Amino acid sequence: MAAAGDQDVAADGEGSAGQSDSAGSDGSASVGPSGGASAGPSAGLSESGGPSESGGDDPFAPPVEERRWILIARALASVFAERAAALDESGELPMDNLRALHASGLDVAMLPRSAGGEGLSMRTFGEVLRIVSRACPSTGCIWLMHIGAAVTLVSLGDPESSAYYAAELKAGSRFANALSEPTSGNMFLIPMQEAEPTGGGFRLAGAKRFVSGCEVASHYLVNALVDGVPTFFGVDRDASISFVPIWDTMGMRATRSQLVSFDDTLLRADRRCRPPGPGDPNPIGIGLAMLSVGVAEAAFAAMATHARGRVIPATGAPLSAMQWVTFEAAEMHVRITAAHLLAARTTWLADVGSPVMLDAAIEAKLYANEVARQVADLGVRVGGGSGYLRTSPIQRHFRDAQAGGLMAYSVEVCKDVVGRRVLDAS
Ligand SMILES: Cc1cc2nc3c(=O)[nH]c(=O)nc-3n(C[C@H](O)[C@H](O)[C@H](O)COP(=O)(O)OP(=O)(O)OC[C@H]3O[C@@H](n4cnc5c(N)ncnc54)[C@H](O)[C@@H]3O)c2cc1C
Repeated sequence: MAAAGDQDVAADGEGSAGQSDSAGSDGSASVGPSGGASAGPSAGLSESGGPSESGGDDPFAPPVEERRWILIARALASVFAERAAALDESGELPMDNLRALHASGLDVAMLPRSAGGEGLSMRTFGEVLRIVSRACPSTGCIWLMHIGAAVTLVSLGDPESSAYYAAELKAGSRFANALSEPTSGNMFLIPMQEAEPTGGGFRLAGAKRFVSGCEVASHYLVNALVDGVPTFFGVDRDASISFVPIWDTMGMRATRSQLVSFDDTLLRADRRCRPPGPGDPNPIGIGLAMLSVGVAEAAFAAMATHARGRVIPATGAPLSAMQWVTFEAAEMHVRITAAHLLAARTTWLADVGSPVMLDAAIEAKLYANEVARQVADLGVRVGGGSGYLRTSPIQRHFRDAQAGGLMAYSVEVCKDVVGRRVLDAS
């Protein structure tokens, strides 16, 4: 429901309450026809609001030579934010947004240099994802899965397969990440479906569930058991692949994360990936925390806009002047900053090839997932009946905020992993 109030808050929320990421309101960022950005004097990310925006001496910030991509993301996000409510209402895929991301050059820039890309750092990737997710989390989620699948196939495939997928990404083909099974659920890296040997490879008869952007993808990253061992394959879309339209959800509606059915689909031997190793890129594992940070920031901005605008007759002052609101806002601001710090630190650990990156990614994800829910819940309380209306962005952020903690690994699975590790280490 693209209500006027929704758009007001989306526009206002981009620059409010310290969680700011405005898309160059001073004209400092514009996306050119070739997808390049022109940066004005404020190109040094001068706004406050997060660890990656505090200046050149911040190790978690995107490298200086890559910061034009942040300006590009901001410019794109200002348009995405205006479309988010209508996409939530219609549940249609954000195709214009996805095309704009590709046209900006971001998709290709994510490829390794050896594959014709720019090998963008995970620090830059994380920030771009946060900015996009803040504007439209469905777009952020689909883009995360698209980049995650493409980069994995390019990185883990043999040279011929790698070149094929790199060329497909450059040409604008879409990728999806088809890993979660109806049975395995959260244990998406441990598939239960067996690939049966056949001429030229293996056959898969089964299904993957909640595959974001699957209906417009040409290529899927799929896993199945080969001789009992989880194995990744690149699978091109063909007549054996169909979609079951299960996705009518409370939030993240425009991801259209349907069930994908594989009817004796050929898993080609020459599209089999090598097993991933510690140094291999893992954009999805790294990005899921940033997705939730973006949702938390959007929820905070909507809450703050309402708090400033709603005058309570009993006091003659806006809600934002009440102590319970200021205290809660302070608490949530600090939590968002902490979640952003943990997520940004994870991207930095990935860039330096740290062996503790995965542990950090799980911790960052669980915290960001919870903070997004907490901030969105505060929005509902501050919003009162007005925020509860379908026309308010507050309820949309609340619905979107529930998803991160369900996505694998869920908050509960993350806590289980982290809890066991820290107890064993003590
Ligand atoms: C918006 C969205 C987009 C998604 N996009 C994709 C995608 O593009 N590709 C893809 O492959 N998948 C995707 N998924 C799937 C997602 O990553 C999860 O795998 C899936 O949501 C798990 O759903 P389930 O119903 O099987 O949950 P279950 O695994 O059944 O979990 C149900 C409950 O049990 C808990 N639980 C499960 N296992 C454990 C355990 N071992 N220990 C403790 N608690 C446990 C969970 O925390 C949860 O509370 C998406 C999901 C969402 C919500």
